[in-house]
Amino acid sequence: MTLLSLNRRRYGSPPFQRLVIFMPDKPKPNDSNQGDPDSDEDDWSTYASAGYAYSVVDTDETVETVESSKDEWFDGDDFEFQGSVINWDAPPCPAPLGIEHLIRIGSCDHCLQRLAGRRTAARGAAGGALIRSEARARNLDLESLEKPDLCPLCEDLFDDVENIVIRIIDQTGDVEHSSIQFGIHLPKDLVEEEDRIRTRHGSPGSQPMKPAFVNAIQDALLTSVNEVQFVKEKPDLMILVDGLTLRVSVDVRPVFLFGRYLKLERGIPQTRWPCRACRGRGGGCESCSGTGLQYLDSVQDLIGEPLRIALDAEDTSFHGMGREDIDVRCLGRGRPFVMEIKRPQRRSIDLEEIQKAINLSAKDRVEINSLRWSDRPEVRRVKETRSEKSYSIRFRVEEMPEEDFVIKSILGLSGVKLAQETPKRVSHRRAAKTRHRTVNSVSDVIVDGNEVQFTLQCEAGTYVKELIHSDEGRTVPSVRSVLGDLECEVLWLDVQEIHSE
Ligand SMILES: [Zn+2]
Ligand SMILES: [Zn+2]
Repeated sequence: MTLLSLNRRRYGSPPFQRLVIFMPDKPKPNDSNQGDPDSDEDDWSTYASAGYAYSVVDTDETVETVESSKDEWFDGDDFEFQGSVINWDAPPCPAPLGIEHLIRIGSCDHCLQRLAGRRTAARGAAGGALIRSEARARNLDLESLEKPDLCPLCEDLFDDVENIVIRIIDQTGDVEHSSIQFGIHLPKDLVEEEDRIRTRHGSPGSQPMKPAFVNAIQDALLTSVNEVQFVKEKPDLMILVDGLTLRVSVDVRPVFLFGRYLKLERGIPQTRWPCRACRGRGGGCESCSGTGLQYLDSVQDLIGEPLRIALDAEDTSFHGMGREDIDVRCLGRGRPFVMEIKRPQRRSIDLEEIQKAINLSAKDRVEINSLRWSDRPEVRRVKETRSEKSYSIRFRVEEMPEEDFVIKSILGLSGVKLAQETPKRVSHRRAAKTRHRTVNSVSDVIVDGNEVQFTLQCEAGTYVKELIHSDEGRTVPSVRSVLGDLECEVLWLDVQEIHSE
């Protein structure tokens, strides 16, 4: 029946196709462009022609029916005007006449159970079969009804449940998961037709086809797998079922980990930095030896690769609470981040162990702490948090003035509000505007030969290197300006603390 199922849905369902029976040994009603049906099994099941599709009886059990109905086939008119058979004025279920009506139009056991509005001892099709036999006991006429080819409500969709479950198990058997969310796609015309029949003839409050279909899949799945939860949000697996093609696609949702990182070595970018020469393509590129990377290591990969391997995942995305320049270290308690690990085949690991492993493999370069499970909303929180930061900075002065003057001038910047035009070094990716940021405190000014070092705490978004050298007068005031316009060259910068949480 699979072929039939696939084709019938691909061609949609004109109003009365389901009562149209075509015999393989007779000429088809519209056979202008089809070959001999017996010779082409791929084609014979359903034909779309002049807006109608013709379904064929294709199983051994129905051969008899075909024989007995030799020389006759029904078209839409027969269906529509079988007034004595089909009572369009039937009351809705759960009235016995309503249930009879559903049986007469060819409702399958699944749909009968869900629309009849009767409590049954069994769920699903088994319950529908009970309702059917009760109705038949009341009205023996129901025994001798022509059975339409397809249920007019679901087009025998429920027959595909087992098939779908096999496909699901096939694709998820090796993927660790504890929760599943289903997404179902059904042809619009099928949904509309089902809705029309259900609202007219079904018991008030009957379950629509889509949730009923999902429930049937879930029930069937539970007989083969244990301990899985079906959820409406934040699933481990998102399973999409296309009722038209029976295609099952499994989206393995990412896992998220929160932590803080220290960058102990300069020259490591926070995230993967694609090679400038080949734009990350790698291959035969000489400038990156085919790695596709401008810098072989990044904070992202030093932390993310051990996680990716441990979770048997495809890739990572790194979400930091801001970032430091490549030549800037990040110390103190470290910078908060969320690591997103994509398409993991495993979802449970010992975080303490993996943290130790990461710190060992990235020793003296990157170190993490506070690793814990996280989620997507935290990515946003982390990315949007603007925190004050403390820095240590060291710079060289062209001609060092008196030490007292230097210390006094730099300490005098404490509490000052800076006006910073967008720095030249980032002007290609940041809008040109003037930002006002406050230097909250300055301390520990040390003069050492022609070098000066001090620490400062300032508002989020302060350009600290520019505060020293003034960026050609684009930051006002600056260390350079308070020292009497002496050229200042930044030697290094460390983030000492990110004051978050
Ligand atoms: Zn049905
Ligand atoms: Zn390259």
